[in-house]
Amino acid sequence: MSRITLEKVCKSFGALGVLHDIDLDIRDGEFVVFVGPSGCGKSTLLRQIAGLDRPTSGEIHIDGKLVNTVPAADRGLAMVFQSYALYPHMSVRQNLAFGLENARMPRAEIDKRIAEAARMLEIGDYLERRPGQLSGGQRQRVAIGRAIVRNPTAFLLDEPLSNLDAELRISMRAELSALHDRLRTTMIYVTHDQIEAMTLASRIVVLRKGRVEQVGTPLDLYNRPANRFVAGFIGAPS
Ligand code: ADP
Ligand code: MG
Repeated sequence: MSRITLEKVCKSFGALGVLHDIDLDIRDGEFVVFVGPSGCGKSTLLRQIAGLDRPTSGEIHIDGKLVNTVPAADRGLAMVFQSYALYPHMSVRQNLAFGLENARMPRAEIDKRIAEAARMLEIGDYLERRPGQLSGGQRQRVAIGRAIVRNPTAFLLDEPLSNLDAELRISMRAELSALHDRLRTTMIYVTHDQIEAMTLASRIVVLRKGRVEQVGTPLDLYNRPANRFVAGFIGAPS
């Protein structure tokens, strides 16, 4: 279970205001996509939710608790990055096990979770390889696997597919949808790609220059864009 709420979240870096009064309520099990042009503040927003950084003002609660008051390991969030961020000197298996070993999980439970994730993501054949011996798509599967084994209450994914070629991106999109159908875990997914947003999201949050322009289902945005920006960005006639 995880309900994530943002109230009047603002973030500035020095004089640069990046996020302005963001209000959001993300319900358990939703697939929410933050979409907007490069530089509009998507990654910054995700980092505030992850607790990797603190808002300049405003509050973020996860299950009623202020995110920055909860130790990182207890937040129940797992992040997946565009750059994969795998440990290059470790095998795939070691990459998957690392966070669980640090949390002192029993070996049998670690092995069980790795086996499950490997089956789900079809990465079982290269568990003993290092990231350098894998293709981009395989690496991204491992990065997603590393999030899955933590059994999070929410996944935070920052442009996880944008380093992949177009064909692979499309098949990985379908896999992510299937994964969400299966796990029913909240996913917050960041992309600058409108088509990705439209195909993956149960709800889309359109961002522009650090402000929320519109929140709605893909159909809402397509049929009833709030303004010309949303209409232009989503691709419906205005
Ligand atoms: P997006 O993910 O939508 O492309 P970002 O959230 O990465 O956008 O960045 C939004 C704006 O905030 C950009 O202008 C970026 O340069 C600025 N920014 C992001 N992180 C920092 C930081 N740590 N210090 C200063 N400026 C930053
Ligand atoms: Mg970004």
